[in-house]
Amino acid sequence: MLVYKFGGASVKDAAAFRNIFRILSSLPAQEKPVVVVSAMGKTTNALEQVFKLAFQESDYTEAWQQMRQYHQTVVQELFPEFGHPVHQALEEQFRFLENTLKTIRPQVQYDEQYDQLISGGEILSSLILHHFLSSQGYQNQWLDCRPYLRTDATWREGRVDWEYTQQQMATHLPPLLENGALITQGFIGGTSTGRTTTLGREGSDFSAAIFAYCLKAESLTIWKDVPGLLNADPKLFRDTIRYEEIAYQEAIEMAYYGASVIHPKTVQPLAQQCIPLHVKSFLHPDQPGTVIWNCQHDRIAPSFILKQNQCLLSFHTKDFGFITEQHLSTIFQALSHHRLKINLMQNSAISFSTCVDADEARVEAVKEALAQEFLILYNQPLHLYTIKNYDQPSLEKLTHGREILLEQRSRQTFQFVCRPTQEFPH
Ligand code: ASP
Ligand code: MG
Repeated sequence: MLVYKFGGASVKDAAAFRNIFRILSSLPAQEKPVVVVSAMGKTTNALEQVFKLAFQESDYTEAWQQMRQYHQTVVQELFPEFGHPVHQALEEQFRFLENTLKTIRPQVQYDEQYDQLISGGEILSSLILHHFLSSQGYQNQWLDCRPYLRTDATWREGRVDWEYTQQQMATHLPPLLENGALITQGFIGGTSTGRTTTLGREGSDFSAAIFAYCLKAESLTIWKDVPGLLNADPKLFRDTIRYEEIAYQEAIEMAYYGASVIHPKTVQPLAQQCIPLHVKSFLHPDQPGTVIWNCQHDRIAPSFILKQNQCLLSFHTKDFGFITEQHLSTIFQALSHHRLKINLMQNSAISFSTCVDADEARVEAVKEALAQEFLILYNQPLHLYTIKNYDQPSLEKLTHGREILLEQRSRQTFQFVCRPTQEFPH
């Protein structure tokens, strides 16, 4: 059994849907994959915009209509015939989302309401794909993943209930797969009370890994608009190279440092079950791409990773006392409580510094929580660069001419925080 994941770029317009059909129909007839899709193009960003307006009680009609129109245009191109059932399916989903929008209140928790609306993007794209494949004679069923992929109520970052999810998927999905491929959503899950959760931005890769793990798939393929796993993001760096194969651990570390090609949580479940992960180009499906698996290799070419929009926070004791374990514990508790992730940290005699994502609300909450005990300095927006498997030339090339605010190195990894420069690619 295979799991295929198609991201936003691979469902961004009518031609992209037709391309998925071509990829799926090139599989042997007996091969019935589980197909996990993201929302179309930049729909999730668009929905976030609509949500923010609704939450502020501002007029969201225009932004909403744009999002709706985008879907309708693609659907009209894919289904020119009048009265196709896809129109009604979409209409129902739009109505549901419009009703959800009307219930959004600034007094109610932001994150929970966010999940109820933002999840709509994946429902829409999966419905369109299902109907389109059927119209082309490709046997498949639409699967609402929420009753199967169970999470707790950590809104916007649902934590998976692995035991329940595996039991549900392993019991109910194989019989369904006998009748054809399953078309389902990435990024979303459901709680035990039937509320919708999301798994964090770009979480569809992780969803696909959850399906692969629970169904003990033969492999997972993530179809992308790049030729495989590269040593840097080609939008940010010149002269990138593609890895033919890399070990799970290497890929996990790259994702951890912010390589955006795969969502950080994706590789771990696959590694646990030795399921190979293929990263391939949906534009050139015959090209080999990259395989991430249980392989042995020597040191690989350096990889370059940039995390933008970072904030450097430093906490100083107010009385010039040393930073103790007690202080660190207080700081860590506040960071964890407000869900601000540490990307880099360092301590000195009387201060502790950490580089975090510059998420305004979360940073403010942490500053407020710790202002009594510490003098807090912060600096943003900054860039955090990581070179994995660095060597002297790669290090010199990247640090040249930059004002470095913080740096750290181990034998394999070099990281530094600096002020942003606009010259991309490097
Ligand atoms: N649509 C979601 C996002 O844009 C999930 C994903 O694409 O992986 O974050
Ligand atoms: Mg995406």
